[in-house]
Amino acid sequence: MVMAESFWIETLGCPKNQVDSDKIAGSLLSDGMRRAGEAKDADLVVVNTCAFVESAREESVDVILGLSEQVKQGMSGEQGISGGQRLVVTGCMAERYGSELAEALPEVDAVMGFGIPVNISKGNIKRDRVPKMDLLNMARPKSELPWAYVKIAEGCDRSCGYCAIPQFRGPQRSRSSEVICDEVESLQVREAVLIAQDLAAYGRDASVRNNTREALRDSVRSGKTSSSRPIISLINEVAKRVDWVRLLYLYPADLTDELVEAILATGVPYFDLSLQHVSRPLLRRMRRWGDGDRFLSRIQHIRRQAPDAVFRSNFIVGYPGETEEDQEQLLEFIDAAQLDWCAFFAFSSEEGTYAADLSNHVPASLIAERLAELREAQDAITESHRRQLLGEHVRVLVDAPGIARSHREAPEIDGIIHVPAHLPVGEFAEVEVIGSVGPDLEARSVDAGSASAQSVSVQSAKARHAHG
Ligand code: SF4
Repeated sequence: MVMAESFWIETLGCPKNQVDSDKIAGSLLSDGMRRAGEAKDADLVVVNTCAFVESAREESVDVILGLSEQVKQGMSGEQGISGGQRLVVTGCMAERYGSELAEALPEVDAVMGFGIPVNISKGNIKRDRVPKMDLLNMARPKSELPWAYVKIAEGCDRSCGYCAIPQFRGPQRSRSSEVICDEVESLQVREAVLIAQDLAAYGRDASVRNNTREALRDSVRSGKTSSSRPIISLINEVAKRVDWVRLLYLYPADLTDELVEAILATGVPYFDLSLQHVSRPLLRRMRRWGDGDRFLSRIQHIRRQAPDAVFRSNFIVGYPGETEEDQEQLLEFIDAAQLDWCAFFAFSSEEGTYAADLSNHVPASLIAERLAELREAQDAITESHRRQLLGEHVRVLVDAPGIARSHREAPEIDGIIHVPAHLPVGEFAEVEVIGSVGPDLEARSVDAGSASAQSVSVQSAKARHAHG
C-alpha cells in the first residue's frame, strides 16, 4: 500500500494567519495528504509567514532557514529539499516580497502568496509565485480545541499611516453570513473568536452590501425588522450556534451603542479596541479617528452598563512626530482608563506607507524608554485587576487539562486560569479564584463535592501576545 504524502505547516504571526493555515491544512487533507508528526518527516513543509514589522520578517526568515536545515537532517542527506521533500513559503511575507524572497532563499522550492494550489501535494511546484488564491471560503478541519478563530473578512479599506496591510491583503472582502455560520457549525466549538483586519466594518464592502439590501427588501416584504449593520446581524447569528462569541480588533469609531448592546447580549462583555494612541494631533498624523477623551467616555459608558466588562487595547509608541507631551497624555490615559490588557508596540517604518515619508522619526532609544514606562504602568494595573478577582466565582471554559479561561481572557492573548485537572476539557465550569500571579489566576472547583483545590503551578503568560 502506498503511504499518503505528509505535510507540516509552521505558522507565524497573528490569529488571522492561524486561520489561513487551518484552511491550507483542510485543502491538503482533502487532497489526500496526512499530517506529519514532525517537520523533518514531512514531504511538504509550508511556512506561513508574517510581514507585520521588521522583527516579524526576521523571525519568518529564521524559521524558514531553521526548517530547511531540519528537513535536510531528517532526510540524512539522501533526499533533502532538492529531493523528494518540498519547502513552500506562503503568507504575508511571500505576498509582499515574493520574488525577492525566492531569489534570496534558494533553499525554498516555492514562494506563493495567499494560499497554495491544491496540486502542491503532487510535487508539481515551480520556483515561482502563483496567482493569488483566496483562502477565505475554503473548508477547514474541525477544531481540536473548544474554541476557534473565525475570519469574517479579509483585507482593509482604511489607510492608517503606519500600516502596510491594505497593500498586500487588499481591500476588504467580507464573507457572507451564511458561509461564516456554516464554518462555525463545522468547527464544533463552544467559543467562536471573530477576527478580521477591521472587524466592525464587516459587510461594508459591495458583496455583502448587496446581500444586506436583499435582506432589507425581504424584511420590508415580510414586515419583520432587521438590523441595519451586517456586523450586528452576524454576531446574533453566530451567538445562536456557540456559547461564547468574542470579537477582536474593533476600530473605535465603529463602537456604536447598537454594537455595544449586541456584544453585551452575547454574555461575553469583552472589548478589544484598536486605539493605537490617544493624542489627537498624533492620531491625525496616523490618519485615524478619535482622541483620549472620546475613548475614555466610551469605556466609562460601557462600564456603567456592564461593570464586569473587560477591555483590551494596543498602542503604537514612537510614531513620527510623537512628543513628550503625547507620551504624557498616553500615560495619563492608561492610568485613567484602567484597561485590563494592553500591548505596546514600537513604531516600525514600513515601505510604501504614509508614515515612512514623515519627518521627525523618534530615536530607537527614546522609543525603548517610552515603551518601558508604559509597560510598567500597565503591568501594575493588570496585576491589580487580577488580584481583585480573588475570592470571586467565575464561569470558565476548560481549554486543556488544568487550563481554562473566563470571559475576561481571550485565548492565546491574555492570561489564563489554572484549574483542577479533573475538570473536563471543552466544558464550562464554575470556579473560585484563589490565587494570582501576574496576568494568570489559580482557581478551585466549586462544583458539589470538589471544594478542595488541586495544586497547580502558575506560569507567566506575558509571552502570549498578538498584534492587532
Ligand atoms: S491598522 Fe488596521 S484598520 Fe488601519 S489600515 Fe491597517 S489593518 Fe486597516
